[in-house]
Amino acid sequence: MDMQDLSKRILAGERRALARAITLVESGRADHREQALALLDHLKGHGRQALRIGLSGTPGVGKSTFIEAFGMMLTGQGLKVAVLAVDPSSARSGGSILGDKTRMERLSREKNAFIRPSPSQSQLGGVARRTREAIELCEAAGFDVILIETVGVGQSETMVAEMADLFLLLLAPAGGDELQGVKRGIMEMADILLINKADGDLKPTAIRTCADYAGALRLLRKRPQDPQEFPKALTVSAVEHNGLDQAWEEMQALAEWRRSHGHFTGRRAEQARFWFEAEVRERLLAKLAQDPVKTALRELANQVESGDLSPSVAAQTLLQGHLALE
Ligand code: GDP
Repeated sequence: MDMQDLSKRILAGERRALARAITLVESGRADHREQALALLDHLKGHGRQALRIGLSGTPGVGKSTFIEAFGMMLTGQGLKVAVLAVDPSSARSGGSILGDKTRMERLSREKNAFIRPSPSQSQLGGVARRTREAIELCEAAGFDVILIETVGVGQSETMVAEMADLFLLLLAPAGGDELQGVKRGIMEMADILLINKADGDLKPTAIRTCADYAGALRLLRKRPQDPQEFPKALTVSAVEHNGLDQAWEEMQALAEWRRSHGHFTGRRAEQARFWFEAEVRERLLAKLAQDPVKTALRELANQVESGDLSPSVAAQTLLQGHLALE
């Protein structure tokens, strides 16, 4: 496969080329990795910028219903929308849950929408890299909005927040006690809280829940880089399509503010640095866990333990002799 050719086809917005490229970045094979890196290199500096929106929420809160309705609204405005899913549990269950195309049937048939299920990779690091690279590919392919969906468990939210320009948290109408259940760290990451299911019998509860969250948000640390009304809480109904346009307006307003104050590119630069450092750390650790380095590490550790080598000399031997560093 010619990577220059593939990159041209991606830049021309060819979906099949994009799908193929994402398959390539997901592959664990060494030759595929090399091709993927060459491809990303060909694509750099294309000058396109999508709005990357992270979206999290516990199962059942309405993520796929929201994404379908929100995505249809955006494509209806002529925007191109990509949906990527991050589901760390899919590796365990042996198949992808999030991003399953049947979950967003109408959107998946839209010509200006592209939905990609979560890869079945076991390590969060692998999923993070694949998702970051898929985001880059979608951006190069000319998508205006990239939604990155994740279930509200574990570290996946932090990971998604670190690759998104905006982070949304979808919540269900709930009593006061349940409000406590949302971890403070997740609240702090969110730019906008969306209280979904504000329709029918649930509407009054949704409005009350929204007010409760708005109160909780006011107690959080202020963000000097954002207008003071952010982060904010809004009610929506994904089923009745209520509040989606207001939510989109708020997202655009926040993105626009950050752009005009230099925080948008600033945040992306910080994220790029974060991922570079994370990948270096992770790959070094992976090397330590692989033979022959693993065996050398164990043998040197034994020698340190028995007093034949000092810790510093052993460390130097490993870094110089086995990792070819220093
Ligand atoms: P996910 O697991 O977060 O993707 O949630 P789903 O989108 O599959 O929705 C879970 C359930 O909540 C489904 O039965 C939906 O029909 C329902 N649901 C989603 N959004 C709304 C909403 O805005 N209002 C109401 N009443 N139900 C909703």
